[in-house]
Amino acid sequence: MKQSTFRLFIVLATISLVGIIVIQIFWVSKAFDLKEKQFNQSVQIALKNVAEKILLYNNNASMLLNPVDRIASNYYIVNVNDMIDANILEMYLKVEFEHKGILADFEYAIYDCRNDELVYGNYASTAKRTIDNVKRTELPKLKRRTYYFGVYFPNRDEYLLGQLDIWIFSSIVLLVVVVFFAYTIFVILKQKRLSEIQTDFINNMTHEFKTPIASIAIASEILMNPQIIQTPERLLNYATIIHNENKRLKNQVERVLQMATLDKENFKLNREIIDVHEILQRVIENMQATFKQKNAHVELQFSPTPVQVYADSLHLTNIIYNLLDNAIKYSNENPHIILQTQNENKYGVIIVQDNGIGISPQAKKLIFNKFYRVPTGNVHNVKGFGLGLYYVKIMVEAHRGSIKLESEVGKGSKFYIYLPNRKT
Ligand code: ADP
Repeated sequence: MKQSTFRLFIVLATISLVGIIVIQIFWVSKAFDLKEKQFNQSVQIALKNVAEKILLYNNNASMLLNPVDRIASNYYIVNVNDMIDANILEMYLKVEFEHKGILADFEYAIYDCRNDELVYGNYASTAKRTIDNVKRTELPKLKRRTYYFGVYFPNRDEYLLGQLDIWIFSSIVLLVVVVFFAYTIFVILKQKRLSEIQTDFINNMTHEFKTPIASIAIASEILMNPQIIQTPERLLNYATIIHNENKRLKNQVERVLQMATLDKENFKLNREIIDVHEILQRVIENMQATFKQKNAHVELQFSPTPVQVYADSLHLTNIIYNLLDNAIKYSNENPHIILQTQNENKYGVIIVQDNGIGISPQAKKLIFNKFYRVPTGNVHNVKGFGLGLYYVKIMVEAHRGSIKLESEVGKGSKFYIYLPNRKT
């Protein structure tokens, strides 16, 4: 799929999902409003009926016009203006609420009309048919006065939400769909990035292998010419080209194979106490030809005291080789490399500093990733697979060490390798 089509697909899919979520929220709030209205209406009718029944019970023939006042969303006052028997009131309330299908718990209180004083209060659960008394007060001997009562629904919102079960269920299903969708997009993006990296790697590798193969092909073709015997220096020259290019190919294949071992995560470290200076000297000696060819100057700033680390000598050699190789590869002209060693607490420290092209802060976060190379467009002037630093990081961490990088674009880079100096 083309990059732009893919992006359009993701944007459209996200917009549709957001749309569905907004519609769902809209309908759920609508459903809640409706339930709230129904609840309020039912409560008002039930309370009016209760008031009328109380009057009937008291043999009071007067008519109540609008006895119910809604004080708050979950609190109602009913002006009976007559005697109220608490037991009778509670029974009527329960019967009427049940009749209206209101199964929410409630509190009710009886007030004296003259001074608004509370004379009785109780909590009633509709779940149980028994009366649960929060304030189990003895029923006061109500004097022959007029009273009104209030009804309060403490769990009204929870009760209403409980009525929206189908809506809540559909919202949960929608949430699960959204989570799966987001996860799928995440996986697709990750796979896409991986496949891009792999394509890059294959392009890089093909390019790296093509040059030596072409050189070998040309040199061997020339060698096949019987005339060449007459010019032994040309013969030697072409044989050397084949030999060197072959060595280069071998190194590259080895690097790729090295990575394959890393991937299996079952590489074995043969760790021992090693003298860092010795290893560094050896690597430098082996790289002399490269330094000469690139006109590189290597300055040694070794610690006056020996620096020892508990490491696998083969892997430590590769780590140093990779860092020095990069220091040369990513420098413009006349690389100046400073190789430093230090002892720091429980660690032996190796520092490789160059005056090369440097690394931007964004790239800094990525250069230890597998196959990552700082983009240079399609220019392949510096060869590599983006595996060297990945190898360095994995290995240093396998040694229970750490790596630090300081770099500034245009000025150069400084890699710090910390390795434990005793058995860990
Ligand atoms: P490779 O050199 O094979 O591309 P590495 O993993 O060794 O792979 O390096 C990853 C990337 O980090 C390189 O492509 C390069 O862009 C950047 N890099 C590594 N070392 C240096 C350095 N010393 N100076 C500047 N850039 C560097």
